[in-house]
Amino acid sequence: MIDEILNKAKQGQKLSDEEFLELLRIDDDKNLEKLFETSAEIRNSQSKTIKLTSTVHITNKCQIQPRCKYCGFAEETSSKGYYNAFYKSDDEILKAALSITEAHIPRVSCSGGYGYKGKQAVNACRIVKENTNLEILVNVGGDLTSKSIEKLAELGVDTVCCNLETINEEVFKKTKPGDSLSQRIETCKLVCEAGIGLSSGLLLGLGESPEDRIRHLRFLGKFKTLEEIPIMGFNPYDDTPMADYPPFPLKEQLKIVAVTRIMYPDIRITMPTPTVGPENVEYSLKAGANNLATVIADNYPLEVKGVGAPEYGNYSEVVNVIEKLGLIPQTI
Ligand code: SF4
Repeated sequence: MIDEILNKAKQGQKLSDEEFLELLRIDDDKNLEKLFETSAEIRNSQSKTIKLTSTVHITNKCQIQPRCKYCGFAEETSSKGYYNAFYKSDDEILKAALSITEAHIPRVSCSGGYGYKGKQAVNACRIVKENTNLEILVNVGGDLTSKSIEKLAELGVDTVCCNLETINEEVFKKTKPGDSLSQRIETCKLVCEAGIGLSSGLLLGLGESPEDRIRHLRFLGKFKTLEEIPIMGFNPYDDTPMADYPPFPLKEQLKIVAVTRIMYPDIRITMPTPTVGPENVEYSLKAGANNLATVIADNYPLEVKGVGAPEYGNYSEVVNVIEKLGLIPQTI
């Protein structure tokens, strides 16, 4: 049964939802290995180049209230996160962007909390585009207006990220009581209408079902400029309301990577190193990912706490892993 489904996938035939669910139900190592071999083969048939994305956290001040229950990024949410409020100055953003260029990392993600209607994202984009050749993704969730999206387009932003996290409305409301799924979906639509590449991902393990995950992946296909899907697994941040909630198992996270690769052979699949754990980067590449995010080089001038967990991927270590697997790190 699994062999048949994977053969169909290899031949580029479309799989049904039930077939994808069958793949998610795999629980023995042999079939799991076959699944990952298939997804990696599909990735490699498109390209063996792995993109690296570094990060600048513009601000951890976020006006979402009540806070998302898992959030360890916003001010005063977790003693393991940033905890103290910050807003990076133009000079700090510039120095961080230049350090990323010097480290030969080709891409930066500039992200921040809610409350600025995208102004902080526009400012960061301007600084990066005026002073470097870096590709830029901005991520301020659904906190963007059509005007700020237009400005980002004018500045030449490469990608705008707005993660829906889960499209199970009940789970979304429970875990993100101050946020709005419909506003996030609206933001994704506006990004597409502006002709900007859209990144929109899943935060796995908030209470959604495997069926919800497949439905979510299909739903993303409606966005015409969709170019990137981050696959994040829940990790509890200390002191948050979900501190005692179980982390999402790595094996399940990797299965979603593989299934996403089969469903979208040429999409950029992003594994944020904090949520997969820097030591597990190798497995995410073996499962079919082709972009590693929150990659930080030794020359980076700012303190970094990963968004889904406090750690992050070190540039040299990540490059070593990519090369060890016979893949090509995209550097500048
Ligand atoms: S997860 Fe993001 S949107 Fe939610 S409270 Fe934290 S910073 Fe704000």
